[in-house]
Amino acid sequence: MAERECRRRAPRLNCDFLIVVDDRPGVPANAFQTVDEQGRPIIAFTLPLIAEARNRDEIAFILAHEAAHHIEDHLSQQRRNANIGAVVFGQLAGEFGVAGDAIRSAQELGAVVGARTYSRDFELEADRLGTIIAARAGFDPVRGAEFFFRIPDPGDQFLGTHPPNAQRVQVVLDTASQL
Ligand SMILES: [Zn+2]
Repeated sequence: MAERECRRRAPRLNCDFLIVVDDRPGVPANAFQTVDEQGRPIIAFTLPLIAEARNRDEIAFILAHEAAHHIEDHLSQQRRNANIGAVVFGQLAGEFGVAGDAIRSAQELGAVVGARTYSRDFELEADRLGTIIAARAGFDPVRGAEFFFRIPDPGDQFLGTHPPNAQRVQVVLDTASQL
């Protein structure tokens, strides 16, 4: 279903998802999406995350959420925002008479700020499309999203990369009620 949604919504992207398990010892519970050099999307689950999940709806929801990040091309948007941040902070540092290494530090900080600028919106977008994909694949996204209640709530931190869990669950409930 993720593949079908990808081909429908993002026909120019590679939609041939490769799903892998990251079984390196000592890695935390995590799932993430990346692309290989050919642009093939990879979704990885670590073993602790699989152990943490309580049912198939949770695994399906996480998979659908990560697939949604790819379908909405968040990685390239994030890279673009990081580049813009680096340029803006570098220029600001230059105007303040900063030079050399300090400019590089400013550019690096700018890249972090830029990359995080829309990351909360990206998470909520991925939750929204993830809900649709999981539901269309026959899973219960609302039950799947209960996973959020067990992971630490990132709250409302400055420059936090994830929105508060309550906000994420609300997006899932709203989206599911419209399906
Ligand atoms: Zn995400």
